Amino acid sequence: MNRKFTRREFGIMTGAVTASSLAAPAIAQAKPKLVVIGGGPGGATAARYVAKDSNGAVDVTLIEANARHTTCFFSNLYIGGLRSFDSITHGYDKLQSDYGVNVVKGFAVGVDAARRTVTVAGGQTVAYDKLVVAPGIDFKYEAYEGYSKDVAERLPHAWQAGPQSQTLRRQLEAMDDGGVFLIAAPPDPFRCPPGPYERVSLVAQYFKQNKPRSKIIVVDAKDKFSKQALFQEGWAKYYEGMIEWLPLNITGGVKAVDVSGMTLHTGGESFKGDVINIIPPQKAGAIATAAGLANETGWCPIDPFTMASTRVPHVHVIGDSSIADQMPKSGFSANSQAKACALAIRAELTGSRAFEPRYSNTCWSMIATGDGVKVGASYKATKEKIASTDTFISKTGEDAATRTATAEEAEGWYAGITADIFG
Ligand SMILES: Cc1cc2nc3c(=O)[nH]c(=O)nc-3n(C[C@H](O)[C@H](O)[C@H](O)COP(=O)(O)OP(=O)(O)OC[C@H]3O[C@@H](n4cnc5c(N)ncnc54)[C@H](O)[C@@H]3O)c2cc1C
Repeated sequence: MNRKFTRREFGIMTGAVTASSLAAPAIAQAKPKLVVIGGGPGGATAARYVAKDSNGAVDVTLIEANARHTTCFFSNLYIGGLRSFDSITHGYDKLQSDYGVNVVKGFAVGVDAARRTVTVAGGQTVAYDKLVVAPGIDFKYEAYEGYSKDVAERLPHAWQAGPQSQTLRRQLEAMDDGGVFLIAAPPDPFRCPPGPYERVSLVAQYFKQNKPRSKIIVVDAKDKFSKQALFQEGWAKYYEGMIEWLPLNITGGVKAVDVSGMTLHTGGESFKGDVINIIPPQKAGAIATAAGLANETGWCPIDPFTMASTRVPHVHVIGDSSIADQMPKSGFSANSQAKACALAIRAELTGSRAFEPRYSNTCWSMIATGDGVKVGASYKATKEKIASTDTFISKTGEDAATRTATAEEAEGWYAGITADIFG
């Protein structure tokens, strides 16, 4: 049976203006809501780009656990004594004041995908139309016997920059000349593939200048590593006899940690350190796992075109938590993915045009002051994966001027990308 519309309903449908409709209070159309969890290079970039490019048409909320973010990139320069802690730490004030992002300081503890809400520790609930999850990494503390979150306070990983980086720096400063710095490097996949080896280089430089009888032992969970030929060439050139790198096939990798004895037990030998830096195996940030975004690998599968989760509707995962195929887990990658994701979300929420994403990444590393190397690529989305289209890497035997130029390029990149992330 056809129901007849009343005259009033018909008037509303056709937009007819009547005295009563003029008198009625205007009902403001609610803005679409984007919520972002995590204010690192992934999340803060996504929040800023959606807020900036939608000109206020989207209501953007960023939920971040800390008041300020210390970038992991360049934290090795801090640990090596080349940068201040302040110079790698950034606030969210501009996201708020210049772009209108609503910054909520708090730890997101739950996502209700059916109701489309995020719960923050303390009980606050934030509703979303689209959610971006960018919490970075978490650690598999259970990977080594005797290792735990508490142990990591004494044997810092310094793989989430902040107080952990300060602890490691203090321990290196307190170590006697002639001491041993022991590093456990993680298995793939992990945040920043060249990162452990840049750390080795810059700590070696610090030792060479301040504690020249000291040694560095790297117990690796792999048989090869990023930019290996470049690092090993640099270690021989600048730090001869100071660094011993032990691949998996020699030690069998770390099996157990003895904190009181300051010893790492491997499949074979045991190693004693005066300062021990365990960089543990990794997985997606805890909230990504809790929200059901991670698969059996511990990381979050995504649509290569939009970074949308393939597991939970209306949710995107960017940065280190995501499975971005050939893109490494880097700040540059996270920032690049965030922009592609922001475009896709803005298009869905406001009807603006969506473009095919172009991804890129470059990872610079310092081998010594003024000696920088890099590796990078461009990427495109295919139905199956994010695939690299062209790649480049510094060469061994490069002249000093090229290396200085690469080091300067890295400094310029840091200034540029942090402005792009935090405004
Ligand atoms: C030593 C080192 C050197 C590196 N060097 C480089 C380099 O030279 N170039 C480069 O490109 N990359 C580098 N990286 C890698 C780079 O730092 C990471 O890939 C990048 O930080 C990933 O960004 P993200 O946004 O995914 O995660 P993160 O940077 O970890 O940001 C995640 C944010 O989310 C917040 N958060 C997490 N969970 C919650 C929650 N539940 N609620 C609220 N907030 C939450 C965290 O507080 C954090 O601020 C380096 C990493 C390390 C460790």
